[in-house]
Formats: sequence, structure tokens, C-alpha cells
Amino acid sequence: MLRGSCLCQGVAFEIEGTVIDLLYCHCSMCRKAHGSAFRARGKVKASEFRWVRGEALVRYFESSPGQHRSFCSVCGSSLITRFDEKPRILGLALGVLDDDPLNRPVCHVHVGSKAPWHEITDALPRFDGHATVPLTPEDAK
Ligand SMILES: [Zn+2]
Ligand SMILES: [Zn+2]
Repeated sequence: MLRGSCLCQGVAFEIEGTVIDLLYCHCSMCRKAHGSAFRARGKVKASEFRWVRGEALVRYFESSPGQHRSFCSVCGSSLITRFDEKPRILGLALGVLDDDPLNRPVCHVHVGSKAPWHEITDALPRFDGHATVPLTPEDAK
């Protein structure tokens, strides 16, 4: 069981499973959504995710067609992302986790649009756009 919550603690959630496909995304939308150099995100199964409290505070923003980023309407914390084309999977902003997901980020994506003031200093693979290698086999999702 993994727990997560927003900055104001109004929203909390639980994940009855593992977080997969952890990575760092440097695209401009992720940078703006998080107000930071990049987004650290993973994916969870929608069937294993549940809101513990504050679901009524959660708002969704469709940042790309069919991609709905959620955030706490009180404090602005980024939470999950829903995908119309992949309803069984949710994106998860790793920074709102209160527990250690145990898995670790495996690469950087959209490095081609990273912030000019940010330097990547680790040795993880970097992709200018999407990752060109599968992170987790599709049948394991
Ligand atoms: Zn909040
Ligand atoms: Zn991104």
C-alpha cells in the first residue's frame, strides 16, 4: 500500500499496487504544471488507485486532447493524470507520494525541450522526445 497527499492535506489517496514507468519529463507542459525543472512521474493501474479524502477538491485540466491532469483546487499540488485512450492507467506525480514507491526513474524524456537553466547530471538514458524503448512490457500493464 502506497499513500499520497497534496500540500494542504485536503486530498489523500492510496495505491494498492506498484508504480511503474517512473521517469523525468522535461516537456514545457510538465514544467509549467509543476512550476519546476521537470516532472517526476510514474504510472499506476486505475483499478489500484483510490481517493481516501478530498476527491471533491480535485480539478482536471485537459492539457492535451484526451489527457487530463488533476490538481488540488486549494493548494495546487499536481496529482494524477487520466488518459481517455488508456482508462486503465493513471499517470502519477511522484512528488505527492508519502511512501517510497521502491521503483526508481529509468530515463529522461523530452530532453529536447528542457529548461536551458537546468543541467541533467545523472547517467540515465535521455530521449529528445518520447522514450523510444518500452519501459514496461504492455502486457504487464
Ligand atoms: Zn491541497
Ligand atoms: Zn511532460
